[in-house]
Amino acid sequence: MRFLLDFTKSWEIFIYLEIPEVSWGNYVNNRTDFLKEMIQDLKDKNLFIELPVLSTEQKNRVVLNGKEVIMMCSNNYLGFANHPRLRAAAKEAIDCWGYGAGAVRQIAGTMEIHIKLEEMLAEYKRTEAALVFVAGIAANRGTIQALMGEEDAIISDELNHGSIIDGVRLTKSRRMVYPHLNTEGLKKALQETKDARRRLIITDGVFSMDGDIAPLDRIVELAEEYDAMVMVDDAHGDGVLGKDGRGIIDHFGLEGRVDIDMGTLSKAFGSLGGYIAGRQELREYLINTARSFIFTTAHPPCVTAATMEALRMVQDEPQHLRNLWDNTKYFKKAMGNMGFDIGRSQTPITPVMAGESRMAMDLSRQLFQEGLFAKPIVFPLVAKDKSRVRIIVTAQHTREDLDEAIDIFERVGKRMKLI
Ligand SMILES: *Cc1c(COP(=O)(O)O)cnc(C)c1O
Repeated sequence: MRFLLDFTKSWEIFIYLEIPEVSWGNYVNNRTDFLKEMIQDLKDKNLFIELPVLSTEQKNRVVLNGKEVIMMCSNNYLGFANHPRLRAAAKEAIDCWGYGAGAVRQIAGTMEIHIKLEEMLAEYKRTEAALVFVAGIAANRGTIQALMGEEDAIISDELNHGSIIDGVRLTKSRRMVYPHLNTEGLKKALQETKDARRRLIITDGVFSMDGDIAPLDRIVELAEEYDAMVMVDDAHGDGVLGKDGRGIIDHFGLEGRVDIDMGTLSKAFGSLGGYIAGRQELREYLINTARSFIFTTAHPPCVTAATMEALRMVQDEPQHLRNLWDNTKYFKKAMGNMGFDIGRSQTPITPVMAGESRMAMDLSRQLFQEGLFAKPIVFPLVAKDKSRVRIIVTAQHTREDLDEAIDIFERVGKRMKLI
C-alpha cells in the first residue's frame, strides 16, 4: 500500500511514504474465483472501468492519475464543490453540531439543521415541503417504490436515468416506456393505461447524456388531460436552469403543476444528497414509507450546512450562473465552428460525438495526453454508434482554461479526422 502525503500543499513537490506491501485476508476458499472470469469478460467486451483518482480538490484544473489536466467532465456546474463559503459553512457546522449524525432520520438522527435545509429547499423550489435523502439515487428509488403499487402504471422516457429505472424495478407496477421526448408516445401510453388505479409519468428534466430538455410543459398538459401524476428528475437542471437556478419547473413556469420535484444536491450545489419537493403529505408519507429514507443514517450536519450555503449562494451571487452559461456558449460556439458534432444539447452538457466506442475511448485518451480530462461515454450507456466524450464546462473555468481546451480539441480532432 502506498500513501501519498502532500505536506507542501503544492503540486510540484510530493513526498512519498512507502509502506511495505501487506497481503490482507488469506482467503481459505475459492468461492469468489468466478469474479476473475467475470472481470475478464468485461475486459473482452471493452466495458471494464478503473477509477480515475484525483490528488487535488475538485475544480477547474486538477491533478488526476498523477497528471495536471483541465477538468471537463465534473458535475460541479457552479464551482461550488471547493468554494470558500461552503468550506466555511461546513467547518462551522462541525464546531456547532459535531461530525456525524449518529442515527437514521426516523430514530435519533434528525437535527434542527436537517429540518432547516428542508424548509429552505421548499422555499427555493416554491413547494409546500421538501425531504432530503442521502443521495439522488436514494430519492428516486425510495419515492417511486413508496408511491407505486401493483395496480398502478409508471410511464417513463426511454432515456431516463439509471436511478429512476432502479426505482421502477422496485415496484410491481405496470411499466410503459415511451420513445425519447416523444409526447405522442406518451399520449399513447396514457391511453393504454386507463384501467390503472394511479399513473405516474417520470422524466429526467435535463437528460444527462445529450443535454436535451424534456418537453415538460407538454408532458404536464397531457398529465392533466389524463389525470396522471408527474415526477421530474432535475439533477442536471438544479442550479442550472430557471431563475436563480430553480430548475426546470421554473424554466417552464410550471409551479404547482408538477406533483413530485426530485433533484440532487450533489451536482450544481457541490454537496451531497437528493431531495423530493412537493406537497406536505408527500413529505410525510415518504418519511413513513420510503425504504431508502428509513434504513439509512442522516447526513453529517456539515454536509447539510454546506448545502444550505450553496442554496444561499445561488440566490445571492448570480455571477456563478452567469459564468456557467457564458462559458457554455463560448465553448459550444468554438466547438461548432471547428466542425465538431456536438449533438442537440440545450444545456451545459456538451456531447462531442466520436462514433464507435473505440473512437470515443481514443479521443478521451488523446485529450488526456494533451492535458484535458473528459471520460468517454460508450455502449451500453449510449447507442453503439453514438459514442462520445461528454464535456461539462463549469462557472469556474477561466477563458484561459477554455481557450486551451479548445486548442487541445482542435489538435486532437484534426489528428483523429473528427473535424
Ligand atoms: C446524478 C443523477 C442522479 C443521482 O444523484 P446522486 O445525488 O449523485 O445520487 C439522479 N438522477 C440523475 C438524472 C442524475 O444525473
